[in-house]
Amino acid sequence: MACNNRRPCPCTYHCPRHGICCECVAHHRDRNEGVPGCFFSPEAEATYDRSVENLCRDRGIGLKE
Ligand code: SF4
Repeated sequence: MACNNRRPCPCTYHCPRHGICCECVAHHRDRNEGVPGCFFSPEAEATYDRSVENLCRDRGIGLKE
């Protein structure tokens, strides 16, 4: 099925899924590769640390121990 869910992509990592949000999210989900780059601020995205912990730090969200 063709997917028209395309948007400008702020992710700076080179990959063939840029702007194809469905493929991007599925890729990260299926490989347990963390959170897609577009969720992060530009500064945090540039670290390529896609962990939930880094996302929470970036967005000022506290994690429960
Ligand atoms: S977040 Fe991952 S899949 Fe999405 S565009 Fe960036 S490198 Fe590609």
